[in-house]
Amino acid sequence: MLTIGCHVSIEGGYAEAAKRAISVGADTFQFFTKNPRGRGQGSLPDSSEMTEFYAVMKEGGLRVPLAHAPYTYNTCALKDEVREYTEESMRGELEFLEQIDGAAYNFHPGCHVGRGAAEGIELIASMLNRIMWRGMKTTVLLETMAGKGTEIGRNFEELRAIIDSVDESVRGSLGVCLDTCHVHDGGYPIASDPESVIAEFDRVIGLDRLRAIHLNDSKNVMGSAKDRHERWGQGEIGLDAAKVLLTHPATRDLPFYLETPCDLDGYAEEIRLMRELAND
Ligand code: FE
Ligand code: FE
Ligand code: ZN
Repeated sequence: MLTIGCHVSIEGGYAEAAKRAISVGADTFQFFTKNPRGRGQGSLPDSSEMTEFYAVMKEGGLRVPLAHAPYTYNTCALKDEVREYTEESMRGELEFLEQIDGAAYNFHPGCHVGRGAAEGIELIASMLNRIMWRGMKTTVLLETMAGKGTEIGRNFEELRAIIDSVDESVRGSLGVCLDTCHVHDGGYPIASDPESVIAEFDRVIGLDRLRAIHLNDSKNVMGSAKDRHERWGQGEIGLDAAKVLLTHPATRDLPFYLETPCDLDGYAEEIRLMRELAND
């Protein structure tokens, strides 16, 4: 059965986010862990907010909630303070997410800002080794990146290198979230030959690590390294490729999250459209 949802704002709290997801016909959703604008320095919800959140999720049948780390984090920053802030914040968020059944935590691996990818990969892996622990319930997802600027994760090999550098004791809790816009912008032929991209992912990383899909069209041509999401049907990837991912035996059971530039009505429409594609 298809699991599909979209990114929703946490303005007003987590329960409000879950209600927004339900209102567009989603059965899952993605949200930022913290809203720097809405909560002063961006604190995590307290227990009364969480009680309400669980009640709304349960009533609406929402599953696999996906927390997305704020964009301000950088595991590879040049400044010690930024790396320390990133590490402390991520540790706090991972501890917090243990309360939410079936949650996953997605983050952008990092920007090496001139250090080079190899050094960046070492920094990312060593940070994960410090903040993850054996037996944690939350799955930590490395997102595939478009390769804009000095982003690490612009190809499957870089993600594989991070996974290989993480301690075996926690590696089981590590997975990958494939963003269709990012892999397209990163140079993979997800538009014209999605099956080959699935096969390449399997060859380099292994499909057992693929745990979620960010389902986005792209404003730019393949290999542009831009990272500009587009609504489905208006971009360079197109619905035929989306249909392959929604129905392929290797991907159809994963949770799908739309991060297209839509308001809630637009998401409701895209979710309906994706359900149609999955079923016909
Ligand atoms: Fe992302
Ligand atoms: Fe994404
Ligand atoms: Zn993006």
